[in-house]
Amino acid sequence: NDMPLEYPIRPSAKDWSELYPMYFKPEAKSRGVPEQDDLSVSDANKDDQKPGSQPESRKIEFADIGCGYGGLLVALAPLFPDTLMLGMEIRTKLVDYLQQRIEALRSIQHKLHQNDTGDAPDVEKRIKTEDLDSADQLKNSVDSTEQDDAESDPEYAKIQDNGETNFPVPGSYDNIAVIRMNAMKYLPNFFEKGQLTKMFFLFPDPHFKKRKHKARIISSTLLAEYAYIMKVGGILYTVTDVKDLHDWMRSHLDVFPLFERIPDSEFEGDLVVSAVCNSTEEGRKVARNNGDKYLACYRRIEDPYSS
Ligand code: SAM
Repeated sequence: NDMPLEYPIRPSAKDWSELYPMYFKPEAKSRGVPEQDDLSVSDANKDDQKPGSQPESRKIEFADIGCGYGGLLVALAPLFPDTLMLGMEIRTKLVDYLQQRIEALRSIQHKLHQNDTGDAPDVEKRIKTEDLDSADQLKNSVDSTEQDDAESDPEYAKIQDNGETNFPVPGSYDNIAVIRMNAMKYLPNFFEKGQLTKMFFLFPDPHFKKRKHKARIISSTLLAEYAYIMKVGGILYTVTDVKDLHDWMRSHLDVFPLFERIPDSEFEGDLVVSAVCNSTEEGRKVARNNGDKYLACYRRIEDPYSS
């Protein structure tokens, strides 16, 4: 019953305007269609020479792999109000949910920005409430009528529709989005070489059984892809409550030549690591159950074998 997954032929072929309408203007040409007649797979990364694609300055920098209900993106959005972040999630239901969640947050913030009075702050508080027991409860609290209200608001519509007044409002969640995709495939079709400054792998599926280990999201093959799309100096974050998975991720990352472990002690008081451990729905569940959390963060380093 799931829709087939769609992938751009290369990063510059992706029209991001639907996901980040305040940051990208819609493209006239259809998506996923190459500009030239060459359709070769190796074309996926020919962005260095692309003509007429999105402006250099507007690129996604953070990717949350297997973002689930999106707690990390929602936590980081106001901390990095002008950094574009993308959640990647394979399950349709979660993607739909998170899309609604982001739209509701955007609507409310835009309304607040337009007009400080009204009842919007209550709604905002309700959505941001930290002590909600389950994401379902949270979902129920995102009242879709709030969204409709905002959209029928002429001021809000003006921001949405008019190219000239199309500007992101810092803190308005315009900088976060989610797409449905299989992150184990085609990541380089979405991101150029060296594009990402942060990648997050938060509480990934443990795949306990030995014969399922190949389904784990950290592996030597996939690390090569992650290293490719990450900028030198960028940080890859992992956290899990499963010790065996933690050991597995470390054993692969520790020996991978393009990543270098960053000692946990360097992250004391770090807001990103705090969000990594505590802001996601899974992270909160683990905390409620007094479970352990194992953190391992790595810096993308210069290729030691290239001069
Ligand atoms: N990171 C979230 C959190 O901390 O709350 C979700 C953790 S959940 C245990 C793992 C998530 O990864 C699930 O939502 C699952 O659908 C997603 N996932 C698993 N494999 C994936 C893949 N290949 N591509 C994208 N998402 C995937």
